[in-house]
Amino acid sequence: MQKIIAANWKMYKTRPEAAQTARELAGALASGLPDGRSVVIFPSFTNISEVADVFVANARVAVGGQNVYPEAEGAFTGEVSVAMLKDAGASWVLTGHSERRHVLGEGDGLVARKTAFALAHSLNVMLCIGETLQEREAGKLNDVLLRQVTTAFAGLPADQLEGRFAVAYEPVWAIGTGKVAGPAEVLDAHAVTRAIICDVAGQIGKKIPLLYGGSVKPDNAAALLGLDNVDGLLVGGASLAAQSFIQIVKA
Ligand code: PEP
Repeated sequence: MQKIIAANWKMYKTRPEAAQTARELAGALASGLPDGRSVVIFPSFTNISEVADVFVANARVAVGGQNVYPEAEGAFTGEVSVAMLKDAGASWVLTGHSERRHVLGEGDGLVARKTAFALAHSLNVMLCIGETLQEREAGKLNDVLLRQVTTAFAGLPADQLEGRFAVAYEPVWAIGTGKVAGPAEVLDAHAVTRAIICDVAGQIGKKIPLLYGGSVKPDNAAALLGLDNVDGLLVGGASLAAQSFIQIVKA
């Protein structure tokens, strides 16, 4: 399976800054991406077209939105539609990111609606899941993964997921904290997640890329990518500077 290296730029960068970082990335990738790697960049909404323009001729670098609303259009102030994302040049969208779940209060039901709506309207989806420290310490890791995956998969067309859907396991306690999950924790959570996905989606579950995210840096990327069931990385802080993201892409 191809390894997907994804960049979540969160609420950082003005348009000139985003364009500059995108050009630096494009320059560093001019000689080609390493074999078996592809890249997805998730800039803020206002920067999607800027970044997409830079990579328009590079089929292995895609651009995505960090959020989407599960209606075609309407009175949903502050939200963004699938059509708007696609028009700006996005082919992917993140759903269920921990900052949306825990800072902005999104529940599993809304995450599921966003996931299903985006897939049904031709966006590829990267669904984020993961437990808080409290949940891990209370021994609830498997329950949380089961609940988040099962709710998001309910009603998804399993036969249409290949190449269009990825799951990112991001333990909330490792996001932006500098605390990367250890190899045993990543192996365990990814094995559990893979088993749940295969249970709910059938054979196709083996082909759904399972990314790890949470304080990925150039110096831990290669080790993480070498673990079983780790089909890529979702990178926040270390994706903001082109140099460190390129090191991760090439790790
Ligand atoms: C993220 O935003 O998805 C993320 C994993 O952030 P960081 O790499 O900064 O922990």
